[in-house]
Amino acid sequence: MELDAMYQSLGISRKVLDFAREIEASLKKRFEEIDERAEYNQLKVLAAMQKMRVSDVHFAATTGYGYNDLGRDTLEDVYADIFHTESALVRPNLISGTHALAVALAGNLRPGDELLSPVGKPYDTLEEVIGIRESCGSLKEYGVTYRQVDLLEDGSFDYPGIKAALNEKTKLVTIQRSKGYATRPTLSVERIGELIAFIKGIRPDVICMVDNCYGEFVETIEPTDVGADMVVGSLIKNPGGGLAPIGGYIAGKKECVDRAAYRLSAPGLGKEVGASLGLNQQFYQGLFLAPTVVAGALKGAIFAANVYEKLGFSVVPNGTEPRYDIIQAVTFGKPEGVIAFCQGIQAAAPVDSFVTPEPWDMPGYDAPVIMAAGAFVQGSSIELSADGPIKPPYAVYFQGGLTWYHAKLGILMSLEKLKKSGVIQL
Ligand SMILES: *Cc1c(COP(=O)(O)O)cnc(C)c1O
Repeated sequence: MELDAMYQSLGISRKVLDFAREIEASLKKRFEEIDERAEYNQLKVLAAMQKMRVSDVHFAATTGYGYNDLGRDTLEDVYADIFHTESALVRPNLISGTHALAVALAGNLRPGDELLSPVGKPYDTLEEVIGIRESCGSLKEYGVTYRQVDLLEDGSFDYPGIKAALNEKTKLVTIQRSKGYATRPTLSVERIGELIAFIKGIRPDVICMVDNCYGEFVETIEPTDVGADMVVGSLIKNPGGGLAPIGGYIAGKKECVDRAAYRLSAPGLGKEVGASLGLNQQFYQGLFLAPTVVAGALKGAIFAANVYEKLGFSVVPNGTEPRYDIIQAVTFGKPEGVIAFCQGIQAAAPVDSFVTPEPWDMPGYDAPVIMAAGAFVQGSSIELSADGPIKPPYAVYFQGGLTWYHAKLGILMSLEKLKKSGVIQL
């Protein structure tokens, strides 16, 4: 076949192709479900853009203070419409997910307030934002205390523990949707809704914020549809659709978003300033593409789960369970597995495919880390990327893929590299 010949010219062997074809055929039904959700979300995005009368004028660059940046303000209205919120802040000067979360937290917390995470330890970079790890400028330095209630052994919420942790100082509850690089399950929007209802039942005035990273457009509803006061995320993940070169968003109740904006710019200025510097068109177009890009990434994750499960490796989520984010973990049990997998992902990239990634001692990590990322946007993890620390249990985390076909090639290439290094036999 013409297609097989093309794969073979890229270095994918007959054996790997045959093995993968059988697995792909078994996933037809799941892929259909993903496409259906993407179709719904595509219409949701289109409806918002039409309602806000998005037009050519909104793509114009502004400079300086950025007063009356119509493109920026309209984009924020589009985000607010998609998330069904009163307001949104969508900015290139929210430089990452961590920054957006830090701004949302610092903007809405005051000295003497307490922050509660009822879903265990938050994402690594937030430890320094909160002050769980000592850090200059942390919330802790500003007199904001932190409390955490871990999930129970089986991944369920510790309702009595959460009830006991809520007190008169609790101002904001932070709920992380994706498991990130932890081993707990990712939370469905429905479960987030149950948790928020429980918390609001005890303390209706507490602000419920959701770290929405990697979750956008995976389901047809978002946390703000089930009671969240604020959702926060990165534009070089799902909602940027691979086209946003930088940026973050905060969508939610007007007062929550305004307080974040006063923190991002300055008291008195808030949302009124901040030039978009010509990035608006990429933000709009990336958002427009995001539902299909997320669908491609989800197909890649499910394909990888089934491929590696079949080969006997432990995968999280497993091959059949429902998906609530785009991250896939595969545990290889030995360093060679992690290294070969990442080298395969890199070799399949559109950018820097000729580079061979190696483990290195990255600042902030307690073991060497290997990373594969042949991305158009530096650090973009909606693009096909993988990384893993070289320490037991030797697991690799893999996510993204701007198209399903690219994600598929990446996984096939990882199989080739694992075969060559003797980790697997096919
Ligand atoms: C990626 C991520 C962050 C941080 O985003 P950066 O853009 O890497 O700073 C925070 N929380 C979760 C769950 C994430 O996946």
